[in-house]
Amino acid sequence: MAWDFETEPEFQEKLDWADRFVREEIEPLDLVFPDLQFTPPSPELRKILDPLKQQVRDQDLWAPHLGPELGGKGYGQLKLSLLNEILGRSLWASVVFGTQAPDTGNAEIIAHYGTQEQKARYLQPLLDGECFSCYSMTEPHAGADPTLFKTQGVRDGDEWVINGWKFFSSNAKTASFLIVMVVTNPEVSAYQGMSMFLVPTDTPGVNIVRNVGLGTEPLGEGSHALIHYDNVRVPLDALLGGEGQAFAIAQTRLGGGRIHHAMRTIGMAQRAFDMMCERALSREVSGGLLAEKQFVQGYIADSYAEIRQFRLLVLNTAWAIDRYQDYRRVRKDIAAVKILMPGLITNVVTRAIQVHGALGVSNELPLAGMLLSGPVMGLADGPTEVHKVTVARQVLRDYRPSDDLWPTAHRPKLLAAAREKYADVLEHEVGNL
Ligand SMILES: Cc1cc2nc3c(=O)[nH]c(=O)nc-3n(C[C@H](O)[C@H](O)[C@H](O)COP(=O)(O)OP(=O)(O)OC[C@H]3O[C@@H](n4cnc5c(N)ncnc54)[C@H](O)[C@@H]3O)c2cc1C
Repeated sequence: MAWDFETEPEFQEKLDWADRFVREEIEPLDLVFPDLQFTPPSPELRKILDPLKQQVRDQDLWAPHLGPELGGKGYGQLKLSLLNEILGRSLWASVVFGTQAPDTGNAEIIAHYGTQEQKARYLQPLLDGECFSCYSMTEPHAGADPTLFKTQGVRDGDEWVINGWKFFSSNAKTASFLIVMVVTNPEVSAYQGMSMFLVPTDTPGVNIVRNVGLGTEPLGEGSHALIHYDNVRVPLDALLGGEGQAFAIAQTRLGGGRIHHAMRTIGMAQRAFDMMCERALSREVSGGLLAEKQFVQGYIADSYAEIRQFRLLVLNTAWAIDRYQDYRRVRKDIAAVKILMPGLITNVVTRAIQVHGALGVSNELPLAGMLLSGPVMGLADGPTEVHKVTVARQVLRDYRPSDDLWPTAHRPKLLAAAREKYADVLEHEVGNL
């Protein structure tokens, strides 16, 4: 029996350190520099960030998602999950620990598919936290169904020429390079006809037409770019992996990215939950504390149960990734986690807002901002509906149709079979009556 839910004491010490460090050193950055995480830091900001990153390195917690071959400690996904729960509370924590999306997923695919030259040029600075990257896949007319993508790459001598439009390319405005998914052979199925390219952002023809913001961000301000790739010329060695390998690469990337979002989501939901509980114990209405009202107790109990349930699924999935070292084998559970993520945030944060009254929806608490993360998690890395289809298809692989008109559990059929099985006894019993 190896069902062990305990954390090794040595790693628990690291988690305790991270918890304190995020609370005391990083959460204040969220307040004073709320929008600068993905902007190359000014010399003044570096004076704050570099020593913080060094403290993380000293604790052996820098880039904890990476294996030793890439400079990480090879903690695996389960330990990463426990750490990401802490980092998920803060906007800056992932950057200070070197685990921020989309760079982690991008690093993963360059490590997996890149040549030595590509790793030296793009991966190393990314791992060192010296640059940002962008994953440019969604197009203005198609996102959930990548087989509809049109951005095309045509070979011209010893170059590829890329033309097309991409939408919601996060952090393109501050990224040093883009990983772009491009149709390179329209004659074959999209699954074989698309390729990934590594494109430096300053390549002529990469035009960021505008940056799209989320929710209430002012128009024109945001970090999700509409990009026009206009006759962008890149050398043949800009191809990441083989020609036609884009789908396989995307699966490698998105599997890890989705579960990392889920780990951080636990931290965010827990933070909203902690706020709700504190408020319930602090505020009086109608002759008693909010905490004494059964509606509010319902909010607390439901939220507690939902966070615990979600966390167990995430930890179990992380454990399975470590165990099998094969994202395809845990695809169903990663998709199941992805399905539950938007609901968890929406439910817990909405209740926390409600318990705080007007203050809850105000810009003096982080709750209203957190609320948008619910629908965002239902879209980023693929919409919930598509993941439900994945889960259902994978689940149904383990089932077979009934071999006759009636379901296997049809009681008359089962009863007839059971009677036949015990016919001798039944005859005897009847005979003795
Ligand atoms: C905050 C954020 C960051 C993002 N960052 C990036 C990024 O860095 N790079 C990048 O390339 N993309 C990024 N995206 C885009 C994201 O991947 C897409 O939004 C997502 O794949 C859905 O595509 P779409 O928005 O075009 O929706 P559509 O494809 O138009 O789908 C719209 C809706 O149709 C429904 N739907 C779609 N397919 C099905 C189906 N099979 N069955 C039933 N219903 C369905 C769903 O309700 C879906 O939400 C980001 C998105 C967000 C919100």
